Amino acid sequence: MLIESRAVGPFFKNGFVLACERTGEAVIVDPGDEVAELVAIVQERQLAVRHILLTHAHIDHVTGCAAAVRAFKVPLWLHQDDMFLYERAGQQAQMFGLKVELPLPPIDHFYDGTVFTFGDYRVDVHHTPGHCPGGVCLAVSGPDFPAPHLFVGDTLFAGSIGRTDLPGGDYDVLMKAITGVIFPLGDDAIVHPGHGPDTTIARERATNPFVLEYLAT
Ligand SMILES: [Zn+2]
Ligand SMILES: [Zn+2]
Repeated sequence: MLIESRAVGPFFKNGFVLACERTGEAVIVDPGDEVAELVAIVQERQLAVRHILLTHAHIDHVTGCAAAVRAFKVPLWLHQDDMFLYERAGQQAQMFGLKVELPLPPIDHFYDGTVFTFGDYRVDVHHTPGHCPGGVCLAVSGPDFPAPHLFVGDTLFAGSIGRTDLPGGDYDVLMKAITGVIFPLGDDAIVHPGHGPDTTIARERATNPFVLEYLAT
């Protein structure tokens, strides 16, 4: 599987192009301010994007939605419980001093248990609220790797966890999602957070101070 990630300031939020090198089919995850770079990757490699998948609707993860939909003309997916955030993109942008092209394009579908495929790969969607109500973990599995690649948005980071002080955030709900939904996806699973470097479930289970504190209580 081809995994290309890009991030630009001020938030350095990771946007991803995931593609099947055999078929050229691809999905886009969380197009933000780096969207032009994601579009360039797709064009250079002549990929066929099938879906745009959002891990959640905080402003840094959706500022590139309009450009992505314009470039790829494919369905845009979000969890229903984050629609209130998506609808308030303008207020979010103001709050964080971020520029966003408004209006955002309509959400075409809410996650409904649909399993996405792109070439030889499949994407299972797991609801992981806590950082925000509609956060999801996109679990990508395929024939060439034994454990899934997890695109977790801002739920879990290398050595940290998502903040829970924004509207709809809840610490206990977040920790339940991390330990009860994400961790069971397997110690070898590779975690691609919405910000910062990759990690693994095993490493976070063993060393993440927030997880260790939660599990000790
Ligand atoms: Zn967020
Ligand atoms: Zn973020």
